[in-house]
Amino acid sequence: MHPIIYAFIILLGVKTAFEIWLEWLNRRHVQEASGSVPEPFQDFIDPETYCKTIEYTLAKSRFGLLETFFDVALLLIIILSGFLPWLYGGLIDFLGNSLWAQGLSLLAISIILSLPALPLEWWQQFRLEERFGFNKSTLRLWVTDKLKGLILGLVIGFPVLCVLLWLVGLPVWWLWAFAVVFAFQLVMIVVYPMFIMPLFNKFEPLPEGGLRNRLMSLAKKTGFKAKAILVMDGSKRSGHSNAFFTGFGNFRRIVLFDTLMEQLEEDELEAVLAHEIGHYKLGHVSRMLAVSGLATLIGFRVLAALTESDWFYKGFGFTTEQGLAPALLLFGLLSGLVTFWLHPAINFWSRKHEYEADAFARDAVNSGQPMVRSLRKLHEKNLSNLTPHPAYSAFYYSHPTLLEREAAIVSTGSG
Ligand SMILES: [Zn+2]
Repeated sequence: MHPIIYAFIILLGVKTAFEIWLEWLNRRHVQEASGSVPEPFQDFIDPETYCKTIEYTLAKSRFGLLETFFDVALLLIIILSGFLPWLYGGLIDFLGNSLWAQGLSLLAISIILSLPALPLEWWQQFRLEERFGFNKSTLRLWVTDKLKGLILGLVIGFPVLCVLLWLVGLPVWWLWAFAVVFAFQLVMIVVYPMFIMPLFNKFEPLPEGGLRNRLMSLAKKTGFKAKAILVMDGSKRSGHSNAFFTGFGNFRRIVLFDTLMEQLEEDELEAVLAHEIGHYKLGHVSRMLAVSGLATLIGFRVLAALTESDWFYKGFGFTTEQGLAPALLLFGLLSGLVTFWLHPAINFWSRKHEYEADAFARDAVNSGQPMVRSLRKLHEKNLSNLTPHPAYSAFYYSHPTLLEREAAIVSTGSG
């Protein structure tokens, strides 16, 4: 075996062992807290619901472990069997070695590689989520979503891939590739909420009434264009509730799930909206974009170095003459083995933004109480894990835990 294959197996082994260890830590931590409702949660959660949060957490964790084993087995089979060079070579023999053929082969392979996970995705939606009352989708809707996603992937992915494959002939092509992909990301920030999300969900302005007036005046007070507050029919697929900020500049919008509108009181919704406006006002979105741009740039520089490395191609059964396409394929499959270890840093930063947006919301509505109540309700209704292991939440959580957020809101605020 080529040394790069040993390196691959070691990286995969270390990552998997670490994932299983964290999962084990977290499961044990959650089980230890399962006897009775811990003191900080007794005010707002009944023992029955608390039990359900633990069952849901453990069921998701079991499913996550199954997914991990499945992914590892699949990746090992794909890499060690020589499946990729065989399939790519076969497709190129059949389609010719034009740029179009290379792009098409890459897309075909990524579709083929995504097929084995479909039964697991089905199980998650129609067994796991169903068991806890969250699934609102139908098989028909699920299949339609998959097909729409596939068509979008082809329509959007094919031209981008072809441009990249064409650029590779230029000097410092990786810089050009970065420029193209970053520009593409910017365009997608506008196109995604405006044209792609409506293919899957309905977006409507806030209905007339007291709530609308209240949210509009908050928007006005905080300097946010209120026309951009929309309600999404999230209940079409799931009982989970959420709110999010998307877009930038004139294309910015805040989306509230209809499920959220049903669960929260007016002043709590106002706090959630203020939190999302906070993300915008505090420049979190543009900062995130800048960092993702930097990551793209580094990614392409690494990719460029790999395309010049004989050992990289040889190790995985390709040849350097095959150009960028096999390197892109391998990069897509294997970069996660390295970027996985960046999760804690990225999530630490994201959690910092959440604290800032919470503080913004508290100050905007002159009280921390509505924010705290909305967070409690969101955790209760979504059966979120209230007692994650600190190492687990530090590694994986993009949002601080409920207790961390409550403490921060209460400690530095006026009440
Ligand atoms: Zn947030």
